[in-house]
Amino acid sequence: MPDVVVVGGGPAGASCALNLARRGVDVTIVERARFPRRKVCGEYLNAGAMAALDELGVGASVRERARRLTGVRLVTPKIDPVELRFPSPAFALARATLDDRLLDAALAAGAMLVHARVEDLLYEGRRVAGVAARGDDGASAKLRARFVVGADGSGSLVARKLDLVRASRGARRFALGGHYLGFDDLGGFVEMHVDRGTYFALNPLPGALTNVMVVVREKQLATWSQAVDEGVRGAAATLGGGRRSFDGAERVGARATIGPLEFGVRAVTQPGALLVGDAAGFLNPFTGQGVFLALRGGIDAAVAIDDVLTGRASEEVAFAGYAAQRTRDFERRRKLARVVDLLVDVPFLARRASARLRRFPELGEHLMNALSGGVASQRAPSPALLARLIV
Ligand SMILES: Cc1cc2nc3c(=O)[nH]c(=O)nc-3n(C[C@H](O)[C@H](O)[C@H](O)COP(=O)(O)OP(=O)(O)OC[C@H]3O[C@@H](n4cnc5c(N)ncnc54)[C@H](O)[C@@H]3O)c2cc1C
Repeated sequence: MPDVVVVGGGPAGASCALNLARRGVDVTIVERARFPRRKVCGEYLNAGAMAALDELGVGASVRERARRLTGVRLVTPKIDPVELRFPSPAFALARATLDDRLLDAALAAGAMLVHARVEDLLYEGRRVAGVAARGDDGASAKLRARFVVGADGSGSLVARKLDLVRASRGARRFALGGHYLGFDDLGGFVEMHVDRGTYFALNPLPGALTNVMVVVREKQLATWSQAVDEGVRGAAATLGGGRRSFDGAERVGARATIGPLEFGVRAVTQPGALLVGDAAGFLNPFTGQGVFLALRGGIDAAVAIDDVLTGRASEEVAFAGYAAQRTRDFERRRKLARVVDLLVDVPFLARRASARLRRFPELGEHLMNALSGGVASQRAPSPALLARLIV
C-alpha cells in the first residue's frame, strides 16, 4: 500500500508526487490520460511558475524547450493598445510538452503511475483511505493509501466526492482554442483582445505556432452551433476593434473546448485528503496564474504530508498550514480575477483601465510584478491597486 495516492498527473499532481518521491515517500499517481496529452491552456508560464519549476529541478529543461516572452499587449476597442513588460522572464510552452516533462521527472524520482480513471473514494470511518479506479481494460481496482491528493483539475471528482464543491453564480464561460500557423510575429507579446464579456488571447509558442484561446459566455457559444471556427474568427475580428485578423492563419491539430470555467470549493482538506491545483478552485484564466498555483500547491501539499509522515506535525496542524498557505496564495488573485471579469464585461471600464495603465506606468509595473507570481502572496495586487485601475 503506497503512503499517498495522487489523483491526476497534471502540474499539481506531478509536482506533488515529484516532491514526495524525492523525500522518499511511496507515492502512486492515478492518471486517466496517456501523456503527452492536450490541455486547454494559454500556455503562458509566469516567473512564479518558473521559480517553482526550478525548485522541482526541471526549470532548465523547460527553458530549453520554451519561448521567452516580452510582455502583455492589451487591446480594447477605440483606444490604442497598451504594452506592459514582464518584470522577470516569462515563457511559453505547449502544455503537452510541459506536463509530459513534469510527469517524467516524477516517475524518474520514484513515483509510480497507474493508468486509470478514479471513480470513487474509499473510507475508513470518516477518513479518506484510498480510491476506486477503472483501468483502460474496464477492470476496476481499489488502491488504499494513508493520504489521497485530489489533483484532478477543475470539476474535480475528488472534490465532488468529498462534497466540497461550492455552487457557482453568474454567467458561465467556456474556453475554445487551438494552435495556429500564419499569424504575424507578435514580437514576444501575449496579446489580449477584450470586449463585452468575451476575450481572446494569442500567445507566441516556440517555432511558428501561436496559441489562440477564446473565452465566451455560454449563450454566445450556443449561437455558434457547429460553426465554431467561424465563430472564433468572427469574435476575433470584432474584439479589440478587429486589429488582429485571422486571414492567412490556419489551425493545426484539433480544436479544444473546456467549460464551464467557474469552479470553487468550500475547503481544501478533509481527514486523509487534500485538494491541489484547479481541484482546489479555479481562477479566470485571463490572469495566467493557474500553472503557478498548481505547482506551488503541489509542493506545499507534499511538505504538509511529509511533515505528518515523519512525525514533525500532526495531520490537523500540517493540513491547517497547507490550507492557510493556499488561502494566502489564492485570495488576492481571486479578487484580481473578479476585477478582470468586470473589465471584460464592461467596455467602458476596459477602456478606462487601458488609459490608466498608459498614463501611470508605475501602475502597470506594480500590476505586472504582482501578476508575475514571482513575489510573495502578500504583494499580490491589493484592493487599493485594483481600484486605481478603474476609479
Ligand atoms: C482557457 C484557459 C487558459 C489558461 N491559460 C493559462 C495560462 O496561460 N497560464 C497559466 O498558468 N494557467 C492557465 N490556465 C490554467 C491552467 O491550465 C490550470 O490552472 C492548470 O492546468 C492546473 O493544473 P492541475 O494539475 O491542477 O490540473 P490539470 O492540468 O487539469 O490536470 C488534471 C489531470 O487530472 C486528470 N484527471 C482528471 N480526472 C481524473 C480522474 N477521475 N481519474 C484520473 N485522472 C483524472 C486529467 O486527465 C489531468 O491530466 C488556463 C486555463 C484555461 C481553461
